[in-house]
Amino acid sequence: MFFDISKANIEELQDDLFLQKQVKVSILRLDKIHPLVSGNKIFKLHYFLKETLTSKHKTILTFGGAYSNHLAATAFACKALQLNSIGIVRGEKPKFLSSTLQQCIEDGMQLKFITRHAYSKKDSTTFLNNLQTEFGDHNIVPEGGYHPLGAKGAALIGDLLKDKDYTHICTASGTFTTVAGLLLSANVQQTIITVPILKGISDTAERISYLTGKQLLLEQLQILSTYHFGGYAKKSEQLIEFMNKVWMQHHLPLDFVYTAKMLYAIFDCIKNNYFKKGSEIICLHTGGLQGNNSLSSKLILY
Ligand SMILES: *Cc1c(COP(=O)(O)O)cnc(C)c1O
Repeated sequence: MFFDISKANIEELQDDLFLQKQVKVSILRLDKIHPLVSGNKIFKLHYFLKETLTSKHKTILTFGGAYSNHLAATAFACKALQLNSIGIVRGEKPKFLSSTLQQCIEDGMQLKFITRHAYSKKDSTTFLNNLQTEFGDHNIVPEGGYHPLGAKGAALIGDLLKDKDYTHICTASGTFTTVAGLLLSANVQQTIITVPILKGISDTAERISYLTGKQLLLEQLQILSTYHFGGYAKKSEQLIEFMNKVWMQHHLPLDFVYTAKMLYAIFDCIKNNYFKKGSEIICLHTGGLQGNNSLSSKLILY
């Protein structure tokens, strides 16, 4: 790995609820790897970075929105490895750049803003040819690392979980690339649980088969599809309250887009006896804390 992943420790959470239900809950702190290339992103980027390091052009081009953890991670990782990075940003250039985009620029990423309409056509041959003309040779990382190479990188997360036979491995999902990696690395007795943070995702099976290149039996995967809190980056008072409670009780900082919704779902499922007694649950802290910078500073306690 290009970054020091030994900082990603496993912490067991202590909570009366878990005692009462006789389950164990631990967190894999991928957020501790680094504030910007934290979490799952550095794993999803791993093989793209490796490939680009051996290329002549030494350039990565990728896509994302104004608050994208993926853009932030790509910019920082490229800077650290002395690669060039280009970010194609969804939406017209705003008067004030988000702190995420400001950080990307600081990390040397060249940004190009395109309309939402143009962005929706970003996979077309014409669009890709124009990028080639404008920026020269480059390696493309699809938005969020949604690509078999991204999943192969995410499978490296599984190596950090091999010491113990967890019964359940839980993560928040956007593109499902991380989940695909977990499915590639888990053993057959383990259940993978995902909390999609987008509303109404219905093509999970197609995504997983594209990402893994296999027709996996998806019995191993459980999708908790009702914890998106209204959709991407939507939040409620209840969610913010939960984040503050987890901070006060467990000293665990969560991001409001992904990890807070995942852990909320897991607590809720434990309350509702979803997990059998004796379950050993591990939740991935997939990072994303830089996204909290877009919240009003009065909302959260950390
Ligand atoms: C990007 C991201 C995810 C989603 O990962 P996918 O591989 O796209 O499903 C989850 N958590 C955090 C914090 C993220 O930034």
